[in-house]
This record gives sequence, structure tokens and C-alpha cells, in this order.
Amino acid sequence: MRYISTRGQAPKLNFEAALLTGLARDGGLYVPETWPQWSAGQFRKLAGKPYEQVAAAVTKPFIGSSLKTAQLDKAIAAAYGTFRHQAVAPLVQVDESLWLMELFHGPTLAFKDVALQLLGQLYDIVLKERGERITVVGATSGDTGSAALEACKNRQSIDIFILHPKGRVSDVQRRQMTTIEADNIHNIAIDGSFDDCQDMVKAMFNDPKFRDRVNMSAVNSINWARVMAQIVYYVTGALALGAPDRAVNFAVPSGNFGNVFAGYAARAMGLPIDQLIVGSNRNDILTRFFNSGAMKMSKVAPSLSPSMDIQVSSNLERLLFDLFDRQGKKLGQAMTDFRETGSFAAPKRGWAATAKLFKAYKLDDRETLAAMRDVHKRTGMLVDPHSAIGLAAALEARISGKGSATPTIALATAHPAKFPDAVEKATGIRPALPAHLADLLSRKERLSELPNDLGKVQDYVLAHTRLGHNR
Ligand SMILES: *Cc1c(COP(=O)(O)O)cnc(C)c1O
Repeated sequence: MRYISTRGQAPKLNFEAALLTGLARDGGLYVPETWPQWSAGQFRKLAGKPYEQVAAAVTKPFIGSSLKTAQLDKAIAAAYGTFRHQAVAPLVQVDESLWLMELFHGPTLAFKDVALQLLGQLYDIVLKERGERITVVGATSGDTGSAALEACKNRQSIDIFILHPKGRVSDVQRRQMTTIEADNIHNIAIDGSFDDCQDMVKAMFNDPKFRDRVNMSAVNSINWARVMAQIVYYVTGALALGAPDRAVNFAVPSGNFGNVFAGYAARAMGLPIDQLIVGSNRNDILTRFFNSGAMKMSKVAPSLSPSMDIQVSSNLERLLFDLFDRQGKKLGQAMTDFRETGSFAAPKRGWAATAKLFKAYKLDDRETLAAMRDVHKRTGMLVDPHSAIGLAAALEARISGKGSATPTIALATAHPAKFPDAVEKATGIRPALPAHLADLLSRKERLSELPNDLGKVQDYVLAHTRLGHNR
């Protein structure tokens, strides 16, 4: 399998190179040159099989010869062995035609673990073979930092540094990062805002001498391998409800469009998915896009679902690439114009099919709380604000008649205990942390505090990363 850039101007890469490269050199995102085509029989053979086995079968064609079968199997076993539910991504029935898929049984209680746990393993295998070592540097406003740290901890070829704004992340979020015991992970509390942290990470990437010296990398959401890992649960979910002999819908709370794009990829492989139902919070650029074909950038506003507080959904570019008939140059021009003018219109060709496949809904905070309250009243289930948005979008699609009678799986992207204040506000019940995290608030923390000073942070990284060893 070869990977091409959505902007058409970067070299084609194999899986290993696409994994290590992340963003393409022309500013585009890597996508498979062609989608693997699976027959109904190929899907049928995986029905009822353990998650790990489905993961191996689904990822294999994307990885090609970059990894040996035994290496891939081992990586998958290690990645999903960290999950607290044997099914990895279990389904819970909500009503006669609606299911919730719990993607939050990983170490940090959010769906990003599904992709990042595998990514950490794949990085380590590939780097060890090349005799290379990388330094991952990232900034977090609270949520993604812990998933990245958990994915990289104890990986021999990776050192990771996560910057967070001191005093501006919640106790639980900070402790999920600072109580991880591993020598290769480093938490830095910066005396500044999240933007200050992010600006410093950008400045480090833009400092070639520093970047090369530490072999700097990112594990961000545009990495193809993350999308690939997420295709797996679309397959297990659909198979459990009768695919390939019955079609299903998926409802997905969306920010960067990475999760729902994996559903699009599963469908492109031949999985019978009728509709992909997208849920947004008040930052609703995706909802506006799917309802009109036009996008207009506006300011990010904080909401009860902070992991979806995004205005430009980076992974949408992968869908737009197909909408532009895979003409990278044309898409590149459109994206440049979008950055300059703040608006974008989809090409008319192909739009009808896109509008039919995707249905999009928006919920503000009040509606999100109402959705959480409603599902609790009807079923006794506690859901987090992100998951509630996907669930409500699924119900809206059904009520409006725009959704078919097809069974729908709503993806639950975070454990309710990750957002206890919102859950309590909606239902009056404060969800408890799962048993393995119950003592989180009494565990020993490990972090360093640094001023908002690029030079000092760079010195710290240089002093603590394991340079040279593995080369
Ligand atoms: C990241 C995240 C999302 C959004 O996923 P995208 O792939 O960015 O669309 C939704 N819910 C939670 C809990 C998340 O952490």
C-alpha cells in the first residue's frame, strides 16, 4: 500500500514512512492511494471474532510489508491488553434500534486511546528497526496530553514532553498525566496559557537546529495510522449488528473529523454503512458544512465538550480530497484560499452523494445537558457530554425521518467520570472514577515547573531526552 498527499505535491510513501512523517511536506495529509476492497465474505469471516483478530485483518492491507505479521500481532495484543473491557469496544443497547459503543475503556478513559495505544507500539517497532530515537513534544489544554503520554510510556525509542498551562487544567486531568510512572515521560507545567504552550511547541518545530538535534516528532491527529486504527471498531460494531448482510448507521461526536473519517474509510472498503451522522457542539463548522456545502471560519468558543472545541477540522481535508476527485493541486489551492479568506465552497460534483451519506446536527450546552438528562431518565445510563451529542444526533436523524430505519451505533467517546461536573449538573449524580483510577487523587505526582521562556524549555528537553543512545 502506498500513501499519497491530499495536495498532490509530496512524494508517495509506504506505511512506515507515512507513520513517521505525519503531515506531508506539501502541507497535505496522507491517504491510501486506493481503498482496499473487501467482499461480503471477507467481512463475514470476522463476525464474532475477538477485537484483536479483527484489528489484525483490517490493518494488514494498510500496513503492507512495513511490518511482519508477528510484529503486528504483538503490537495489537500489547495495545489492547491495556483496555479494561475484554471486548475492547463493547456495544450497549439503548432502545430498539439504537446502540452505544463504549470506546472509553482504555487507560485515559477516552476514545483516543484506541488509536494512540497502537500508534505508540508501531512507532517503537519501526524506530527500533531503524536504530532511531525520537523526542515527542506536545502541548495540551488537558485532554489529549494524557492519551499521548500513556501511549508513549516505557517505549524504548521515544521520549515525550507534554507542556500544560500551570493551574489551568483540572485536578483529574493533571493527575492523569503527572502520576504516570515511567522514566521516558516528562510533564512540564508552564507559567502561562495553553496558547503560550502551543506557541512554544511550534517555535521548537520551527527551529531546525533544535528539531534535528532531538529528532523531534508529534503524535497529532492528522497521522494516518490513527485513522487506520479507528476503522477497526466500525467493522466490529457493524458485524455485531448483522453486517455485511444488514446495513448500519453510525453517529459520531466530532471535532477534528478523525473519528468519523475512519467510518468513511470502512465504508469505502465495502462495509455497508447507510449514513454517518455527525454531532457538533456550538463550534459547528462541520454541521454548517454538511448542511450547505459551505464553510466559514469563526472563533472557537468554549463548551461542555472541550475535545470538540475546534473550528478547522483538520481531517476533513481527507474527505474533501475525494470530493475534488482526488485532484490534489485543486484542493491545495482551495485550502490556501480558505486560510486566506476564511470561507470555502464544496465543488458541485459529488456533493449530492456526500450530503446523502452525512447528516449533521448541532447541540449547544443547554441541549447537551438536556440530552444527558433524557438518556439517564429513559435508560439509567450516565453519558459524558461528547457522547451525549452523538446520541442526540442519532435520535434527531431518526425523528426527522432523514435517518433511515437502519440500526444506529452512537460512539461513546469518553467515560462519564472524565466530565463529572457536567454529568452531575445534568443528572444530579456524580459519576465515580473506575476502580483502577479510584486512588488517582492520592497518587504521587511528578512534574517540573518552568517559566514561559522558550530557551529554558529547550534546555530542559535537551537535558532530559536520551540523545544518541539508539543511533
Ligand atoms: C477527540 C475527541 C472527540 C473528537 O474526535 P475527532 O476525531 O477530533 O472528531 C470527541 N470526544 C472526545 C471525548 C474526544 O477526546
